[in-house]
Parts: sequence; C-alpha cells; structure tokens
Amino acid sequence: SKSSIQLSRGECVKVVVRCRPRNRTEIATNQRSIVSVVENAKQIDVQDPRIPGNTEKKTFSFDSVFDTENKQEEIYHGSVSEVVTSVLQGYNGTVFAYGQTGTGKTYTMEGGLDEVSKGIIPRSFAHIYAHIEGQDEEIQFLVRVSFLEVYNEEVRDLLCKDSKKSLEVREHRSTGVYVKGLTAIIVKSAKELEKVLEVGTKNRSVGATLMNQDSSRSHSIFTITVEMLEGATDQSSGHTKVGKLNLVDLAGSERQSRTQASGERLKEATKINMALSALGNVISSLVEKRGGHIPYRDSKLTRLLQDSLGGNTKTVMIANICPAEADYEETMSTLRYANRAK
Ligand code: ADP
Ligand code: MG
Repeated sequence: SKSSIQLSRGECVKVVVRCRPRNRTEIATNQRSIVSVVENAKQIDVQDPRIPGNTEKKTFSFDSVFDTENKQEEIYHGSVSEVVTSVLQGYNGTVFAYGQTGTGKTYTMEGGLDEVSKGIIPRSFAHIYAHIEGQDEEIQFLVRVSFLEVYNEEVRDLLCKDSKKSLEVREHRSTGVYVKGLTAIIVKSAKELEKVLEVGTKNRSVGATLMNQDSSRSHSIFTITVEMLEGATDQSSGHTKVGKLNLVDLAGSERQSRTQASGERLKEATKINMALSALGNVISSLVEKRGGHIPYRDSKLTRLLQDSLGGNTKTVMIANICPAEADYEETMSTLRYANRAK
C-alpha cells in the first residue's frame, strides 16, 4: 500500500547541481573557471572574480554534484532513475532542470541523438519499457503521454497542430487539476515515446519563430502517465495503480536588466521570475517539515504540478551552472535558489 513508502516532507526533494564544461567562446576569450565541483563532499565552491587575488571561496552543499566530465548516464543513474522506479510503483515524480540560458537544461533533459549523449527524457523511456517488457503477463500497462509548454502564464499543447492556442487549467473535485482539451497519446514502446518527443519539440520551435520568442522563455512539461492493472484481466476486479512522471525544462532563470527589457520582453521576464519564485516557494515549503500552507496556486507551473509535488512523490531539481567568471552573478543566484530548495 502507499503508506509503506510514505516519505517525510524533507526526503521527497533532492537538489543536485551540474556544471557544464567551458564552451568554445569561453575558452577562446580566456574566461577563467571560478567553479570547483567537490564530488566527495558533494559541494560546489565558487570564487568571486570581482576581488583581485581573491582565494576565498563560497561553498554550497547539495544531495549530489556533477562535474564537467560527468556523462549523461551518470546524471540519470545518480539522480533520476530512482524517481522513475517509484513512478513504476504507482507514485508521482518530477524532474526539473533549472538554470540560466545556455547552462545545459535542454542538454540534460533531451540531450543529443546518440546513445552516449541522450538525456534524461529518452533514458526514462528506455527505463519504463525495460520494466514493462520484463514483467509477467499478470500486469497490464497503459502508458499515456502529453507535452505542453507554459509561456507568459498561458498553457499550450505541444502535441496539437494549433500549438499556439491557449488552454484552460481546471480543477476537478476528485481527480484534481487538469488542462482542458490537452492531447494525451497512448504509446506502446520507447520508440513511440521518442516520436512524440520529436513532434512536440518541433512544435515548440515552430511556435518560437512565429511568436518571436525562443524556448528559453517558456517552461515545458513532458508528462508520462503509467497505469498498471494488476491481478485480473477484466477491469472491474483488478487493482489499478497509476504513476505519473513529469519532466520539466524550465525557462531560463537569468534576470533581465530593466534597461534592456521593455514592453513584451519585460512582461515575459516578470512572469518567468514570478513562476520560478513560486516554484522555489512551493519546494521550500515542502522541505520545511512543519507543513502548513503550500502556495501551489501562485503560478500555472506549480498549479499544474500540484499532485506531483509533495506527499508521496519524489522531486529532483537539477540546477545547471557554467564555470565562466563572466557568469559569476547568475551562477551565485542559481546556487542560492537551489540551496533554498534543498
Ligand atoms: P539551456 O537549455 O540551459 O539554454 P542548452 O542545453 O541548450 O542550454 O546548452 C547550451 C549548449 O551547451 C549546447 O550547445 C549544449 O550542447 C552544450 N552543453 C550543455 N551542457 C553540456 C555538457 N554537460 N556537456 C557538453 N555540452 C554541453
Ligand atoms: Mg533550453
């Protein structure tokens, strides 16, 4: 029964940090690396480059830390695979990629096309189907998938032709929060899931050109729902368990300078900051064991994920940073955010 793995509030949230390698431009411009990842101590040390000759470092501790050399496979096994395992036992789980634009959120979630560089989303497909195919016939599985983005506090269906249309978020008395009219596709294999991811990703970028925005200003949520019918072949006498996995690529967390952003851009930026701080507030209320009010209703993002944050759910926040000295302030801001969620 569910109570057997009842998690206390603090245990259900894990925060990990991943630092990407310096890119070509950063190397070409001799950007110093100011980040050290101390794997054994699970710490990130950051040197303040604004003070000449400074050797003092600011230290942050996390549940896990990943260095520039760590591979996609290590991120999956080190922080995500246990979430997917619990989804396959009938619980909900959420994985977030947080960070400034260009630090590797999409690389971490989607990754490249080959075996080595593929990210968390395709790895979770393989994990789910390896489990399903390894089960005896006693359990029937039904896997459904949906893919949406939240842009300017509006919800868009990435699996629908008209992906620019804004959908309504509603609440049902017994089944909870849902998106009215959101496409849900039934899939039968990891290959089919990959196809769905590809279609949705294309829609995300099509929308981007038309609306003059890019994916760094929207949050995307890829949701896999796994229904498991045990012990019977006819629905009425069987026992159904449902697990839901949300894979979230958040909008870039960088602050827009007030002088540069105006009009639509400033409005976008304000909504992104609002949603990310609402998410931070929800997670830190979950981590504080005292309970009390959890402010899910403060943003579309937290409202949509309400039944997958807190209670019998597992959450992993992957905070992405880069090592360049020029990004000191953004890196510190990401580490502070992540530290608060811990
Ligand atoms: P974001 O989604 O946060 O804006 P991206 O995932 O698009 O960032 O990453 C920016 C660039 O850095 C991409 O070209 C990506 O391939 C590369 N990159 C990110 N993380 C890594 C990594 N750990 N190893 C190698 N390349 C990476
Ligand atoms: Mg991205």
